[in-house]
Amino acid sequence: MASLFDVTRDELAGLLHDQPPFRLKQVWEGLYSNLQEPSQILTLPGALRERLDSELPSALDLATTSVSDKGDTVKFLWTLRDGGHPIESVLMHYRDRATVCVSTQAGCAMACGFCATGQAGFTRQLTTGEIVEQVVRAARASKAKGQRLANVVFMGMGEPLANEPAVWGAVERLHGDLGMSARHLTISTVGIIPGIRTLAERPLPVNLAVSMHAARNELRDELVPINKRYPIDDLIETCNDYLAAKNRRISFEWAMIDGVNDQPRAARELAGLVHRLKPSAHVNLIPLNPTPGWPTTGTPPSRITEFASRLEDLHVNVTVRRNRGTDIDAACGQLAAGQPVRIQSRRSAPAI
Ligand code: SAH
Repeated sequence: MASLFDVTRDELAGLLHDQPPFRLKQVWEGLYSNLQEPSQILTLPGALRERLDSELPSALDLATTSVSDKGDTVKFLWTLRDGGHPIESVLMHYRDRATVCVSTQAGCAMACGFCATGQAGFTRQLTTGEIVEQVVRAARASKAKGQRLANVVFMGMGEPLANEPAVWGAVERLHGDLGMSARHLTISTVGIIPGIRTLAERPLPVNLAVSMHAARNELRDELVPINKRYPIDDLIETCNDYLAAKNRRISFEWAMIDGVNDQPRAARELAGLVHRLKPSAHVNLIPLNPTPGWPTTGTPPSRITEFASRLEDLHVNVTVRRNRGTDIDAACGQLAAGQPVRIQSRRSAPAI
């Protein structure tokens, strides 16, 4: 059975074929403009509200909500209506707006050793409705706090471009029905080249973030194993094609791992990559967050600052991402939805 946010407006029209035509508009506006549950759309007759509830159930059941010490980061743990691996989304409140980080797969098959989701493995793809519902429910929570949900980042559990059709379905729904502009939607990828190519052909110019972490194949093969299939030179060429097609900035994500990718040499190599992009990429440095299955620690803050200024000296546009929600395991790479992880057997950090 399709879930509430899986159906397109046309599919809903089919379902409401026995109703007066204005009902479609009432339901759609209730769901997407007013962020209501069907039972709350009081312009509808009671019988229709009940029918919607039973024929189009929501896909996610809220299992737990965790709130960070500062109260600005909220993590939702969802169980999927039809079973499988639970998933998580993270709502981040800023001064004047909110951002939600959504999952695109239950688990992940990319096996990046330093990422808790990768450590736990892959269960299944999420549907468009399961992705959209994470956004709608975060938007409701945000609205309840008097804040508008302005940005969506596809950076939660899973690899968005290994589930591109469903992710694109969600992008279209968020853009067309929730009214979010493409510049406020960001897809983060390990660098799945065919996925980036598909994205370049899609009509909306969403932001692309590439999880680079290393600028040499030898090291990147180790940190991001899919690099063996899609090596750096091919990835850079594909990023340039995306830039040419979309006229949008690309950012490189760089998790700072102590003694692994934080030396002066790593900064020079990264700057070299950045300047191969036209226009050049923006770099986001992410302090490595601890995960149960990875022995190496993050670069200390003082050396992250040093690395950032080294990059600036090399004319690289760089920001250090503020870490949020580490106290509730809600930061980058920490989402595992309570799944057991495989402990890596590595004894030392890879040689540089
Ligand atoms: N699969 C996608 C999106 C999910 S991960 C991707 O890889 O881009 C979101 C970001 O968090 C990625 O840049 C990822 O490399 C990074 N990340 C993963 N584990 C991390 C950790 N332990 N500390 C900091 N960042 C991490």
